[in-house]
Amino acid sequence: MVNEKEILKNASVVTTNACKLCTPLGACVAMKGIENTMTLLHGSQGCATYIRRYLISHFREPIDIASSNFTENATIFGGGLNLSTGLKNVTTQYHPALIGVATTCLSETIGEDVKTMVRNYQKSEEVSASADQPLIIHMSTPSYKGTHMDGFHAVTRAAVAALAKDGAPKKQLNILPGFVSPADIRYLKEILADLQLEYVMLPDYSETLDGPTWDDYQKIPSGGTSVAAIETMGCSQATIEFGRTLDPNLTAGKILRERFKTLRFQLGMPIGVRETDLFFELLKTYTAAALPVKYELERGRLIDSYIDGHKYVFEKKAVVYGDEDLVVGLVSFLAEIGIIPVLCASGGVSGRLAKAIHDVAPELEDRITVRQGVDFMEIGTEAEKLGADLFIGNSKGYQNARKLKVPLVRVGFPIHDRIGSGRIVHLGYRGAQELFDRIVNTLLENRQDNSSVGYSYM
Ligand code: SF4
Repeated sequence: MVNEKEILKNASVVTTNACKLCTPLGACVAMKGIENTMTLLHGSQGCATYIRRYLISHFREPIDIASSNFTENATIFGGGLNLSTGLKNVTTQYHPALIGVATTCLSETIGEDVKTMVRNYQKSEEVSASADQPLIIHMSTPSYKGTHMDGFHAVTRAAVAALAKDGAPKKQLNILPGFVSPADIRYLKEILADLQLEYVMLPDYSETLDGPTWDDYQKIPSGGTSVAAIETMGCSQATIEFGRTLDPNLTAGKILRERFKTLRFQLGMPIGVRETDLFFELLKTYTAAALPVKYELERGRLIDSYIDGHKYVFEKKAVVYGDEDLVVGLVSFLAEIGIIPVLCASGGVSGRLAKAIHDVAPELEDRITVRQGVDFMEIGTEAEKLGADLFIGNSKGYQNARKLKVPLVRVGFPIHDRIGSGRIVHLGYRGAQELFDRIVNTLLENRQDNSSVGYSYM
């Protein structure tokens, strides 16, 4: 396996089409998973506009993000006044239960002390005299340090740190799924309900980022985990966090463990049979209910389809890229269906990607190249050398796939050139089934399209 330190040492100083996104963008996604919440970006307006535009293209839902709207004056003299004006405006216009303040590159660069500014705002005469004030949490999210995944996890940490309380033990689990699709979250909730498990899912944007049509415009879409539910997370039996590349010392689960002694389990994203089995095994230790037969059937049908489709996928070479934990989950799944993920790439730089990949697919160690902290130019160059048969990742890899004339199976985030991105299921037996069918059919379609014979019976 490739030494990641060597890769970083030799990395280009210029990024061309980054394989990661802006840090506050991840924070904005996670904030959509807390009920009646608004995000306020402390910085210049363009960041909020870009992030809104980017998220709307993927989720196809209206998304409001406030901005403290820095001008030249605020950039030079500080944005304290802008922040307090922004907090007041958001409070009066949206009436949120919670405001999440995330910083942008600009406010971080000039060294804004947002924590103190928020405290001073809350202590001001006008605000402290009013009973109807939202809670405020703050995340430091400079985009030149980290990725959208860091912003995403910063929200779960900040929410738990600020809101979770001690209390009488509750028979419930904390589920921290990471950046998965709204459909994934709905499926997780279905599993937990079927196993008769009480839980707090954080974040839960299953409705706010993939909701039905409305009769009247909702300034803040309904759905999300309530502040009251987050407050009980310190009373839960255990926390389950998805993500093999998470820093175990820097997670919301770690905070709950330290403050309330809540047991913490760190699992891989449950993609494919092996990782999903581990998740179900853990859940089974917390429920007296029998596993509903529908999951045995889902698992059985999945394995049956692996057998049916094996001859089409065996030894195919895939390029897998995107968020580190999604890549690790996909590698585990691809290894079990016989596809070789010859290149596993991410813009993330956790330093834990190569080990996590080795842990889920040790049998492929000598056949996988791992690249962390890369951009799409490097992914394209490497993919060409390795002779990939297909790409699996977000739609930002489309140009590379097109250039190499190989198909792209779209997963993860962002997907800007298809609809239904919020409804892709990646997790569990159901998600693996959906991915498997899509991958096999994509390979078959590609073979048909490039055949001079035009097979109709494959
Ligand atoms: S300036 Fe920084 S925070 Fe703003 S959009 Fe660009 S990367 Fe994101």
